[in-house]
Amino acid sequence: MTETAPSAAAETARGRNPLAFLDAEIEDFKAKGLYRRLRVVEGEQKSRCIVDGREVITLSSNNYLGLNTHPRLRSAAEAALRELGAGSGAVRTIAGTMRIHEELERRLADFKHVEAVLTFQSGFTCNTGVIPILAGESAVIVSDALNHASIIDGIRLTKAERRIFPHADMEALRSALRDVRAAPGGAERTVLVITDGVFSMDGDIARLPEIVAAAEEAEAIVYVDDAHASGVLGRNGRGSVDHFDLHGRVQVQVGTLSKAIGVLGGYVAGPASLREVLIHRARPFLFSTSHPPAVAAACLAAIDVLESEPQLIERLWENTRYFKAGLAGLGFETGASETPITPVIVGSGARAMKLSDGLFEEGVFAQGIGFPTVPEDRSRVRTIVTAEHTRAELDACLAAFETVGRALAII
Ligand code: PMP
Repeated sequence: MTETAPSAAAETARGRNPLAFLDAEIEDFKAKGLYRRLRVVEGEQKSRCIVDGREVITLSSNNYLGLNTHPRLRSAAEAALRELGAGSGAVRTIAGTMRIHEELERRLADFKHVEAVLTFQSGFTCNTGVIPILAGESAVIVSDALNHASIIDGIRLTKAERRIFPHADMEALRSALRDVRAAPGGAERTVLVITDGVFSMDGDIARLPEIVAAAEEAEAIVYVDDAHASGVLGRNGRGSVDHFDLHGRVQVQVGTLSKAIGVLGGYVAGPASLREVLIHRARPFLFSTSHPPAVAAACLAAIDVLESEPQLIERLWENTRYFKAGLAGLGFETGASETPITPVIVGSGARAMKLSDGLFEEGVFAQGIGFPTVPEDRSRVRTIVTAEHTRAELDACLAAFETVGRALAII
């Protein structure tokens, strides 16, 4: 005799659907004007693309340099697919590490001027994998309040004491470090200072020279997550440590291969001892399969491009300056941004979503972002320009912002 499970609808009819709280949550999103559908992109992710069946200019992607469709990355990925297959088979400690993964890590270590690199499946898993290894039970983590969600989750996976300092408040950072060291037993503890290199929702750059000076005084480790600085800041996109010329003074750098590098993945760059310990202990490394070889091959090609086509980064920054000046000229509030990420801050989440929807009607795709990603009263439309945007595209975006901004009385 076969038994079939009652459908969720039938369960609901009898008032016993144990997942009914999900429907309530969806209603709550709708009531607050925060309900989103995933928009569907047809074809390639380029500055101009087809979203929900409509041609738009996108200001939503992290594809800073347009590398996701760069011919050199495509052909490297195709060749690796043909020669090495579609997948890597298992985790690297079990199936053996593929030579191409090792080659990518060597290349990245040389590029970043550090002893060693270990790659992870994503920037997110890199943070959740590395932070628990550095911060044991007796450690203290001192972390900027606006650090990325993956840093927050990495911290949650530790039993270390946490001290969160207000965003970019260097006096608060110094005072937290002084307190930790002055407390009984404080001199012996491992202290880890964590910051984003570029803050992903505001586009401001971490005050790394001051963070490093404070950490050196307190003999603390500095951990910088350069997800939005990789390929954007520093010589050939080497990141925030290179931008501020702090080589040798930041112990741990995290980067992503998913944004400017155009592919997928995360990596940690630092001393060889860190890599060795992570290979033995980092849980996403030990318990999750490594990248397909085509991913590693495309990342290798991306480093070639960063080294040989610096004009892409120059173009990214020209576009950034032009677009920021345009938004500011129209009277929008763009916060403290110093990078290609420019938030247009409008107040409530519902207002941000309206601006985003209005822009879409005008042919511009820029996501609205509200709570919990940013505080409700600092909701925004986040824009990211890339090296691929033409001047005409940026002008069209600015015209759309002007039309919708006036219609909604934002400017
Ligand atoms: N760290 C920061 C600061 C980020 O902005 C992001 C991406 N939003 C990540 C980590 C995660 O990177 P990935 O997309 O490679 O998982």
